[in-house]
Amino acid sequence: MLTEQQRSQAETARGFMPNDEGLALYDAAVSTTGSAPWLEVGSYCGKSTLYFGFAAAARGTVLFAVDHHRGSEENQAGWEHHEPDLVDPALGVMDTLPIFRRTVYDAGLEDSVVAVVGDSPTIARHWTTPLGLLFIDGGHGKKPAHDDYDLWVPHVAEGGLLLIHDVFPDPADGGRPPYEIWCRAIESGAFAEVSATGSLRVLRRIGAGH
Ligand code: SAH
Ligand code: MG
Repeated sequence: MLTEQQRSQAETARGFMPNDEGLALYDAAVSTTGSAPWLEVGSYCGKSTLYFGFAAAARGTVLFAVDHHRGSEENQAGWEHHEPDLVDPALGVMDTLPIFRRTVYDAGLEDSVVAVVGDSPTIARHWTTPLGLLFIDGGHGKKPAHDDYDLWVPHVAEGGLLLIHDVFPDPADGGRPPYEIWCRAIESGAFAEVSATGSLRVLRRIGAGH
């Protein structure tokens, strides 16, 4: 279980993860067995990272936190989820890495969280380690979401968890691509649904393929 201090650190971290969904991330993560590492695609300022990081510390495994820290399309100036103070004033581009690093440091999680800074598909194409847990919350456009599915999901180990954020079955609630990849996981027959909390879906690998 999260301590009161951990819970409040996670809840006050900057990010897009509602607190109840964050607790669901933690619960799913601590329920995993085995020692395979975990991987998060899309860390932003580190809110979801803390829930996974506390769980990884408790379970004695590590979380690889993949993000280029330049923001998704929907985080750029003029878009709905833009936060202007996250723009590096010297460069005029977003940079969430300093806040992310500070968040992980303040939570005492530098031994349990490894930042992997770069483009998700590029990293995925060179990745070979089986994952005990994969969380997809990177770019939510059609290509980024389907690329993350195609390139990362093959690495989820048998019995491992696949978590997808921002799954909105009703188009009135939000964009389609995360929902589309959740449908692909279900339709593949390789994953069974474990739980749903808000827009978070937790699945478990029950067979090969994706
Ligand atoms: N999980 C976070 C929110 C992630 S927001 C939370 O709990 O608050 C989506 C993140 O995906 C952004 O930080 C963005 O930089 C990252 N991202 C989008 N496309 C990416 C890509 N191709 N490679 C790496 N990171 C990407
Ligand atoms: Mg999200």
